[in-house]
This record gives sequence, structure tokens and C-alpha cells, in this order.
Amino acid sequence: MADVLIVGAGPVGLTLACELARYRVGVRLIDRARQATRTSKALVVWSRTLELMDRMGCTEAFLAAGLRARGAILRGGGRVLGGPDFSDIASPYAFGLMIPQSDTERLLAEHLRGFGVAVEREVELTAFSQTADGVEARLAHADGREEQVTTAYLIGCDGAHSAVRHGLGLPFQGTAQGDEWLLADIRLDGVGAPPGDAIAVYLHQDGPFVIFPIPGGRARVVATVGRADGRVRPDPTLAEVQALVAARAGPGIRVSDPVWLSRFRIHERKVSEYRRDRVFLAGDAAHIHSPAGGQGMNTGMQDAVNLAWKLALVLRGTAAPRLLDSYSPERNAVGEMVLRNAGRLTAMATLANPLAQSVRNRALRLLLSLPAVRRRMAATMSEIEIGYPASPLSVGSGAGRRWRPEDAAGPPPGAGADPRFVLYAADAESGTALGGRFPGLVQPVPRKNPEPGRLHLVRPDGYVGFAAGAADWDAAARYLKECGTA
Ligand SMILES: Cc1cc2nc3c(=O)[nH]c(=O)nc-3n(C[C@H](O)[C@H](O)[C@H](O)COP(=O)(O)OP(=O)(O)OC[C@H]3O[C@@H](n4cnc5c(N)ncnc54)[C@H](O)[C@@H]3O)c2cc1C
Repeated sequence: MADVLIVGAGPVGLTLACELARYRVGVRLIDRARQATRTSKALVVWSRTLELMDRMGCTEAFLAAGLRARGAILRGGGRVLGGPDFSDIASPYAFGLMIPQSDTERLLAEHLRGFGVAVEREVELTAFSQTADGVEARLAHADGREEQVTTAYLIGCDGAHSAVRHGLGLPFQGTAQGDEWLLADIRLDGVGAPPGDAIAVYLHQDGPFVIFPIPGGRARVVATVGRADGRVRPDPTLAEVQALVAARAGPGIRVSDPVWLSRFRIHERKVSEYRRDRVFLAGDAAHIHSPAGGQGMNTGMQDAVNLAWKLALVLRGTAAPRLLDSYSPERNAVGEMVLRNAGRLTAMATLANPLAQSVRNRALRLLLSLPAVRRRMAATMSEIEIGYPASPLSVGSGAGRRWRPEDAAGPPPGAGADPRFVLYAADAESGTALGGRFPGLVQPVPRKNPEPGRLHLVRPDGYVGFAAGAADWDAAARYLKECGTA
């Protein structure tokens, strides 16, 4: 019996499987599709996701395959309005890594194979039910075989139409945005073609038009093409894309060599609970929204990282099952914020009234001239500001924030095969004694705290769990006792 059955081998299911396999949890990863996606879909891997990949051990492969975008340039009313400079992001990865989702999935699947786990393809979850100490799941194989499996935990990473979410009866509340959008992966050249290392946003009077660089000299173009009226139209033609590029970005730009032409609508929906007992949701199964800001896949992958170490500790018997109670409130709060931000960006970009557009453009020009605003925009996009201050797992002033990757000596907390807290303290002797009391939960050797006078317990996913004064050892022990079974 696998301890964990993951349904869906998109980027989120793959991330979760990689993390669980690294922590030596018995895992099965199934997907009903015959093969992985071949299209570029989510194009940006942001700084925080790269930081988390450091723990997973696959950042290098991503950096080698991706293209580093240094910023975004917004234009409106025929002039440059400004934009965020990603080198302002306070992270070792101060850029947006442009990489097609098909490559992201390929690299994650390769990483997973390194742990001896392969994606089981053409295997579909058809039903499941929960018992007091497990989940019974029914799987349908391509050859018609039915399989009944028992697992300790079932995780739905099965995308926007999630069978797991339907099985739990969880409402997917939200709305559909009103526009029809066009998407094209093409080559761009000629006079006025934007630089190949920045995202170009044209807030045109007829609607937004965005160009994202893709490795290999290609580009993704996304634009509104009118109000959605429920009719299904054929995929766009290259001529339609050329006309849009000429009208909204510049008449001298030529398009060629299309590899993917499509249309889509934006849905903004979310569950309000990510868990029912032994069944969890992560990624698009739990939240879908506008691609503005490129947060969808990143947020889903970070759901997976949040859940993995908790499941591993509980399955080892090192932590009490109540540790899992923090997953839904922590990721639900993040999901709400991401939906809100992406929705606002989309509403701002799709303003149709000419007067409102002119006010928007003037306001943006002013705001984007302020370095603090540009820095804030870059930080929000990069997801480095995500934290869990309101979590039941965050205790003490400043708990819940992301720990400082820039000055943490040694490998990041959570690296390696054991998901343990890392203690940052001044008093090494007391720290070692605390580690000795909770050997499965805390790394044995404390690290020097770059914040003198403070004591921090940093979670395996790099967020401060406990924060206190340097001598508050009793409170630290109480915190660990609460997490653990001791
Ligand atoms: C056209 C398009 C453009 C996009 N552009 C962007 C972008 O620019 N930026 C961004 O961040 N996001 C973008 N997205 C969204 C992004 O692709 C998703 O956020 C991401 O794929 C979510 O990953 P996931 O692993 O949660 O789900 P998915 O990638 O949807 O994977 C779910 C998997 O579950 C499998 N599955 C489903 N049901 C079952 C079942 N019952 N049994 C077994 N397997 C099952 C499916 O076959 C699938 O492989 C785009 C999406 C689309 C469609």
C-alpha cells in the first residue's frame, strides 16, 4: 500500500511526488492522460518557487533550461508607462524564469525518476471513499482493468475539473471573466519587436496585449479579442495574430512559425477548504484564476511544498496528525490573495471606457515612477512576500514570515531527506539540548542566528514557525511538543 496516492501528474502533482519521495514516503502518482502536456501553458517560474526548488534539489536543471526575464515594461496611450525591475526582488533568484510548462513537467518527472518513482499513465481515479484510518480508491486502467487501492492519504492534484474535488462535494465558487482571449506561441521580429528578456504589456485602447519571451527565441502572445458570448470559435489563424500585433504593439512587427494558437476564457474560482479528513486538494483543483501575474502554477507548486513535509512528518509518526490542520488555512489565505491580485490586474488591464483608460494610464505612469511601487510589484509577482502570519503553526512576533535565504548559512532548512525544523540561536549548548529532546523534529546542530537576541525555529519549507527572545527555551520546547507527539 502506498502511503500517499496523488491524482494528477501536472506540475503540482509532480512537485508533491518529488517532495514526498525525497522524504522517503511511499507514493504513487497516477494520471489519466497518455502523455504529459506538450504545450507551454504556464510560462513563468518565480523566485519563491526557485528558492523552494533549492530544497528539492532541481534548481540547476531549471536554470539551465529557462530564460531569465529581467522585468516587465508597460505601455499605454502610445508611451512607456514604466514597470517592475525583477533585479529588485530580494532573492538569490532575482528574475522571472521563463520556461514552458511542458519543460517544467519534463524536468520534474526526471527529478522524480531519480527517486525511483515513475508517473503511472492512463490510470484514472473513478471513485473514492474515506474510512477512519484510510482512503479506498478505485482506479481504471487503459486496458479496462479496475484496481481497488487503500491509501493513508489521497491528494487531488487533478486540475480545474478535479474528480477529487467533485468527490468531496466542495463548491468551486467564483465567476468567469467576460472577455475572450487569444493565445499564440510564435516568433516575432521586425521593427518594434520587444527585447527578448522582458515581458511587454501593451494597454491598448482595444484591450490588453502581452508578449512573454520563451527560450529559443520564441514568444507567447496573449490578448483580448472581444467579449465572450458562449460561442466556440476555431483556433485563431496566424493572420489574425499578425493583425492584432500590428494594431496593438506595432505595425513593423512580423509574426511567424506558430507552434500553438488557441483561445481561452478566464475563470476565477476557489474552494474554501483544501482538505476533508484524509483527502487534500492542491493546485488548479483548489484555485483557478487569471494568468495575469503568472501565479497559477507557482501557487499550486507551493501548495505541494507546504503539504509535503507535514505529511512526511505525520506518516513517520514524528508529528501529531494535527500538524496537517495548518495546510488548509495557510494555503487558503494565499489562494485568496492570489485570486484577488490577479483579478485586480485583469480588471485594470481590460478597462474599456476611454476616459477610465486615460485615468489608468496617467495613474500608472505616476505610480511606476516610484521605486517603492516598482519594488512592491516585483516582490508580489515573485511570491517572496507570501507568509503565514495567521497560521495556527506561527507562534511569536514575526512568525510566519519567509526565512532569510540571503544570509542563512548552510543548506536551506528542509534540504535533504529529513523534513526537520532548523533552530537559529545564539546559545549553541541549549540549542543542542533542545535538538536532543526532539530528534525527529529539529536538526541536531543549531545554527547561528543572524538576528542577535532572537531565537527562531524555521520550518522545512523555509518559513519561521516559532520566534522568541534568545533565552526563551521553554516556549520553544512547548512549541515543538505541540507539533510533535511527545
Ligand atoms: C491555455 C492555458 C494557458 C495558461 N497559461 C498560464 C500562465 O501563463 N501562467 C500560469 O501560472 N498558469 C497558466 N495556466 C494555468 C496552468 O497551466 C495551471 O495552473 C497548471 O497546469 C496547474 O497545474 P496542476 O498540476 O494543478 O493541474 P494540471 O496541470 O491541470 O494537471 C492535472 C492533471 O490531472 C490529470 N487528471 C485529471 N483528472 C484525473 C483523474 N480522475 N485521474 C487521473 N488523472 C487525472 C490530468 O490528466 C492532468 O495531467 C494556463 C493554462 C492553460 C490551459
